[in-house]
Amino acid sequence: MGSDNHKRLVIPGPVEVRREILEAQTAWMIGHRSTAFADLFARLQGKLKQAFLTTNRVFVSGSSGTGLWEGASRNCIRDGKKALHLVGGAFSERWAEISQLNGKQIDVIDVEWGQAHTPEMVEAALKKDRYDAVCVVHNETSTGVTNPIRDIAAVVRPYEETLILVDTVSGFLGAELRTDEWGIDMALTSSQKAFALPPGIAFAAISDRVLERAAQVPNRGYYFDFLEIEASLKKHNTPSTPPISLMFAADVQLDAILTEGIENRWARHMQMRDLTLAWTFSRDLGAFAQDGYRSPTVTAVANTRGFDVDAMAKFMSGKGFSMDKGYGKIKGKTFRIAHMGDMTVNTLEEVLAGLDEFLSSLN
Ligand SMILES: *Cc1c(COP(=O)(O)O)cnc(C)c1O
Repeated sequence: MGSDNHKRLVIPGPVEVRREILEAQTAWMIGHRSTAFADLFARLQGKLKQAFLTTNRVFVSGSSGTGLWEGASRNCIRDGKKALHLVGGAFSERWAEISQLNGKQIDVIDVEWGQAHTPEMVEAALKKDRYDAVCVVHNETSTGVTNPIRDIAAVVRPYEETLILVDTVSGFLGAELRTDEWGIDMALTSSQKAFALPPGIAFAAISDRVLERAAQVPNRGYYFDFLEIEASLKKHNTPSTPPISLMFAADVQLDAILTEGIENRWARHMQMRDLTLAWTFSRDLGAFAQDGYRSPTVTAVANTRGFDVDAMAKFMSGKGFSMDKGYGKIKGKTFRIAHMGDMTVNTLEEVLAGLDEFLSSLN
């Protein structure tokens, strides 16, 4: 299967997918109104709730994560009300833009790229104005920053009308996230990052408060209308035809994840982060993200040695690895090493050894 010159993905999405998961997608197709499908859907619900650490429902969406951004903004912000977006990188910036493109009013707390948002900043904003939602990115993939979601959620919780909407696209199943315990109303994710599935399916834990809010918003559209999705979900189904093959893959992958254990998985990612940071500093390179908020799933390496990242990527391609060259306005000044999904410490060590060979070739 696949081509012999496959390069193992070290980019922050899509990530390398194990062969067993790829093969799960080749099972015979089933009708999405069949009992076999209802069984699959119910089985997935049980496992997804464990993965999100929630007792609420988990939506399964035939879209990438971007679709659920649109759904979140559209269903959770009422006309004449506002959302507060915490912006500090390419992805948080885009989500804010999506809220606006859906006609929603927003305020923004901007931090410099590479910095985290603090609960103090959020609390100060909430004291000044009222918000229907606080929209925050758990793990800013462009900068390698993990935001302190637990502490941010804690300052938002006392404001009853304010929902906490979390993009955990590149954090989920790699960086600690406790949906119910931390009081998160919506945690949305894609498949192709730390979940280590192929792209094309997205998931979101949804609280009752989110659904109560959606009922107060008249123009929810159709594809991402949370009340439609909820009505189908109760019958173990989806409003439109779902990505069934990807659901087969998710079923198998969730078994592997729950066998590994969520907390063990978080710990493995922390170990890979620490290994990557130790390598980075000992090679006279820097970490772009603020100390104390560096991501367990992706490290944005500050290219303080100013080498040509295209040459690095080309060299690494010769070693069988597909590397990132940085994202958006910090491309080249940084490059990212993704250590997420099913990557092992051994594979990461191979990647770092390859990078060492590249660095010594510069001398
Ligand atoms: C990749 C990414 C997205 C976009 O997700 P898609 O699945 O590509 O739509 C959103 N947020 C973050 C933090 C991401 O890393």
